[in-house]
Amino acid sequence: MGDNSAIEWTDASWNPATGCTKVSPGCKNCYAERLSKRLKLMGNPKYTNAFDFTLQPAALDLPLRWKEPRKIFVNSMSDLFHELMPDDYLDRCFDVMVKANWHIFQILTKRPERMVRFAKRYGRIPDHIWMGTSVELAMYKKRIDVLRSIRVKTKFISFEPLLGPIGEVNLKGIAWVIVGGESGPHHRSIKPDWVRELRDQCVNQGVAFFFKQWGGMTPKSGGRQLDGKVWNEYPDFVPQYSGKPVTIPERTARHLLRLRHQL
Ligand code: SF4
Repeated sequence: MGDNSAIEWTDASWNPATGCTKVSPGCKNCYAERLSKRLKLMGNPKYTNAFDFTLQPAALDLPLRWKEPRKIFVNSMSDLFHELMPDDYLDRCFDVMVKANWHIFQILTKRPERMVRFAKRYGRIPDHIWMGTSVELAMYKKRIDVLRSIRVKTKFISFEPLLGPIGEVNLKGIAWVIVGGESGPHHRSIKPDWVRELRDQCVNQGVAFFFKQWGGMTPKSGGRQLDGKVWNEYPDFVPQYSGKPVTIPERTARHLLRLRHQL
């Protein structure tokens, strides 16, 4: 339920729930679905329900046990704001994140409306929790407007899998943009001009830009260079450590900063 992640923009994934249902074309070749089914076939007890939405309470307190600061992708095998997620369990997930303030939590959803409703109910969301939404086609840009209404410091957009030209994007209030092509046996292709258009808007508007991959049969098939450069930017953010219950040694804080600014 928690592991070192192969995803370039994070260090680890944490799955207090697994399984999901598809909401838009970006879900068609969902990686989490493929992996869940494979894990069930391999007899992994956490995936007996395969890709059906399932709470994983045994994983709830994992981030509190990880003492080294990490960037943690929340629910990489699901969507934290899935319709079947109970409110009280969602609160428990956030209580863990609020407490584990030496980490950065990266939450990505295709259901930003529920994220907004949650944020209004839960109260202040501290700065080490980042919230983002996925946009695969221009017709889903409205998700960005929904995300923008949330009072959280670091908001981000993942244009992955990018399935068409996005056009002009309002990046007001957005700290970070991730772009990536689809990978896997049924991957749909990405055009360099779609990526350039997003990169140029980020550069012009001072938004951190991260180009994850071109995609192909495997995530690494096409490499990561765009016009001869690897784009590895992160939001300009330094966690405000509370000092309790864990203090961060100076060495670890420096390591974390380096990770975040690797170019
Ligand atoms: S929302 Fe995400 S996890 Fe859920 S089906 Fe779509 S791509 Fe998969």
